[in-house]
Amino acid sequence: MREIRLASRPSGWPTAENFEVADVPVPEAGPGQVLVRNVYMSVDPYMRGRMNDVKSYIPPFQIGQPLDGGAIGEVVASQDETVPVGAFVVHGLGWREFSVVDAGKVRVVDPAAAPTLSAYLGLLGMTGLTAYAGLLDIAQFREGDTVFVSGAAGAVGSVVGQIARLRGAKRVIGSAGSAEKAKHLVDELGFDATFNYKDAPVRDQLRAAAPDGIDVYFDNVGGEHLEAAIASMNKFGRIALCGAIAQYNDTAPPTAPRNLASVIGKEINMRGFIVGNHSHRMPEFVAETAAWLREGKITARETVVDGIENAPGAFLGLLRGDNTGKMVVKVG
Ligand code: NDP
Repeated sequence: MREIRLASRPSGWPTAENFEVADVPVPEAGPGQVLVRNVYMSVDPYMRGRMNDVKSYIPPFQIGQPLDGGAIGEVVASQDETVPVGAFVVHGLGWREFSVVDAGKVRVVDPAAAPTLSAYLGLLGMTGLTAYAGLLDIAQFREGDTVFVSGAAGAVGSVVGQIARLRGAKRVIGSAGSAEKAKHLVDELGFDATFNYKDAPVRDQLRAAAPDGIDVYFDNVGGEHLEAAIASMNKFGRIALCGAIAQYNDTAPPTAPRNLASVIGKEINMRGFIVGNHSHRMPEFVAETAAWLREGKITARETVVDGIENAPGAFLGLLRGDNTGKMVVKVG
């Protein structure tokens, strides 16, 4: 079977040379473990940080070792009676065709309850939960709020905007990196206003899109976007710091936001979060989102790249903005 390994650490933007494909024997499940034939794997922006040799909330990838991350597949051998052969499971050992996983570390899912299996990596999975917990618990969203989300056409952002709409936002504004993405948000996801952040300064475009200011900012991007959101934020506004993708490949410290002091005068509540510490919200999140799905009220586009050998390319494409909605790799 094939697995993708870290070949070297990037400085700045990663390239295909930082990855290698290796052929290894299919591993065997030991007591309490299952062998999973992976069907889809996830590529995510946080993996960029794991390519650096720095201490963070999650350990770095190791050179010469396989990468890991979210995946979904079918159990083909089981040494644990709670997870039988034939079950479909979400787990954390992607980037390989087969994974041996401790039975206690898999989430058994119902393929019939999702439009596609890959939805368990996106809308009904980690990125969906990030949107849900970040908007409702961290940003303390309330009906009638005007919400701005950056990275709005991506996996997390597209769900943030839709949940805000479904939960009674006054106005939902999103920014994305192309005119097509901005149009998709309005036409298919029900955003009220969108803009291409590459067209003009974010501060000006946000002011035009939100003449009465914003109450919530869901930050996927950092930098200039965060500065613009602080500038447009109403008194007692709330900011969920989810990601800062604009700076993941930077080799110098960010130059924005330059207006952090206004957080004081506006009495803004600004808080970072890591989705892994919000798994207690999974049952409510899945119940509510699955109901919206059944009623056709929420939708999630995916960008699917075929073949595990193309996973590094999918990851590099994600960092460049090649995806609309969740970027996933079809493993087999
Ligand atoms: P996305 O599906 O949003 O993909 C990444 C997107 O980032 C690209 O499609 C691209 O879209 C955009 N992007 C890239 N560079 C820039 C830039 N310089 N400025 C603005 N946008 C840029 O990924 P996810 O939805 O998985 O993740 C979104 C954010 O949420 C990331 O910052 C990620 O790290 C974070 N995250 C945080 C979690 C947590 O627990 N805190 C959990 C999951 C994700 P475009 O074409 O619009 O530029």
